[in-house]
Amino acid sequence: MVYDVIIAGAGPVGLFLACELRLAKRSVLVLERLEDPHSPLKRLPFGRRGLWGPSIEAFYRRGLLEQLAPRTGSNLRGPAGHFAGIPFDFSNINASRWTYRLPGPADTQLGSEMEQLERILTAHALSLGVEIQRGQEVEGFEASDDEVTVRAGGKSVRARWLVGCDGGRSTIRKQGGFEFVGTEPEFTGYSVHVELADPEKLRPGRHYTPTGMYNQGQPGVIAMADFDGGAFHRTQPVTLEHVQAVLRRVSCTDVTVKAMQVATTWTDRAYQATTYRKGRVLLAGDAAHIHSPLGGQGLNLGLGDAMNLGWKLAATLRGDAPEGLLDSYTSERHPVGARILDWSRAQVALMRPHPASRALEAIFRDLIDTRDGTTYFAERVWGVSIRYGLGEEHPLVGRSCPDFELEDGTRLGTLLREGRGLLLEFGRQASLRALDGRWGEQVRYVAGDAKERLGLSAVLVRPDGFVAWASDTTPHPEEVTDAAARWFASR
Ligand SMILES: Cc1cc2nc3c(=O)[nH]c(=O)nc-3n(C[C@H](O)[C@H](O)[C@H](O)COP(=O)(O)OP(=O)(O)OC[C@H]3O[C@@H](n4cnc5c(N)ncnc54)[C@H](O)[C@@H]3O)c2cc1C
Repeated sequence: MVYDVIIAGAGPVGLFLACELRLAKRSVLVLERLEDPHSPLKRLPFGRRGLWGPSIEAFYRRGLLEQLAPRTGSNLRGPAGHFAGIPFDFSNINASRWTYRLPGPADTQLGSEMEQLERILTAHALSLGVEIQRGQEVEGFEASDDEVTVRAGGKSVRARWLVGCDGGRSTIRKQGGFEFVGTEPEFTGYSVHVELADPEKLRPGRHYTPTGMYNQGQPGVIAMADFDGGAFHRTQPVTLEHVQAVLRRVSCTDVTVKAMQVATTWTDRAYQATTYRKGRVLLAGDAAHIHSPLGGQGLNLGLGDAMNLGWKLAATLRGDAPEGLLDSYTSERHPVGARILDWSRAQVALMRPHPASRALEAIFRDLIDTRDGTTYFAERVWGVSIRYGLGEEHPLVGRSCPDFELEDGTRLGTLLREGRGLLLEFGRQASLRALDGRWGEQVRYVAGDAKERLGLSAVLVRPDGFVAWASDTTPHPEEVTDAAARWFASR
């Protein structure tokens, strides 16, 4: 059998992408190295993953938010967000600046647990007919003009496309010869769960010291940054003695670690593939970009990749993708990734154990506290400011579509569940009705009055929920046809 797509890696990004492809009726095989998906690092407190606007919208638009939200109750809702540990507050955000956001079920901020997220996505993928094989490490592949042969677990499988969602040390990226460029780490980060003999010696919360940083979120649950140039990470076992030595150094105390439950390290190495596609091989998620977990952006970035890539790859497989559609995956997602890498580098600059960084931090605190400052940081952290460069005709084009509610109570988010594009015409004229069926299964036409239409008369939405075309005046069918040709080949 030749699959349409083989995905290496059943992490959240690989699973989400698999669901997107199955929604478009493509055959998908996911090969995952690990037999067992469970790990203490995927469970709270270490498995906590902050989800922001576009990811929450993606779950909502595919009908998965209800499953994710009940577990994300008040215990997971923290401050609105932070920059290098400087928190910003919900009450200080001027959301009226976000002209094209409407209130709806999709929030801008949600806590999730990695293990639960993977469980929900796995169940959804299986229900859609995705084939998942665990204990199958992808060892290599050969790509021709027509297909890719993948070697995993001592056997070969074939597909028309291969997507590497195999994490930061991606085999697909390395074997595919993707150029990976960026900046080397300044520190080794630690996430540990320990029992302290003298807990009173370590203050709760985040603290910058002359030798590093530590953050005690809950008693004994500690994150640390040791500015060793990333030298320790993955070079030696993380022993209790070592953790105690680092903790003493970065906290400037003589605190004693009595027992250690969990310990893992990470760094602020920030690298990105220069292209996300080489022939029939693509990258998504951490396989395409890595950076420190500061500010919790990596998963969001990867889910955004999957949402962007899924429908484009499906259209390419169907053979009706307009010229250049698949390459728009890199041109749209690479700049979003580059901005996140810089966002994480800027936070490192503020964290350095140096008086200049402390001075900078004090200035940032003042700025974040202003209403404009809080709003700016919320826009960046929550992904509200994401806009693809699709043309400047209308300020909504290239942005995530507002969650319009029609008079019968139907919301845009639910209209996108099938993973198709949407031509939404407001008012009673239905002047675009003639276009109904013009793009077959790819675009659904819906006419109706909206409770709040934000001055719009019609909007063309891509399957990923981003606006391809919008009009404030009575639209002419030709305008829509031209715009749609760019995304949905005309028949
Ligand atoms: C401490 C910490 C906190 C974080 N907090 C946040 C946060 O709050 N918000 C946020 O957005 N992000 C956060 N992140 C980042 C986030 O966890 C990652 O960006 C996200 O997990 C990437 O998903 P992925 O599916 O691309 O890769 P992964 O989750 O790494 O999944 C890759 C999968 O591929 C498998 N695999 C690897 N090699 C192979 C192979 N050769 N063959 C087959 N399978 C293979 C792996 O076993 C794994 O299952 C955090 C990260 C850390 C370390």
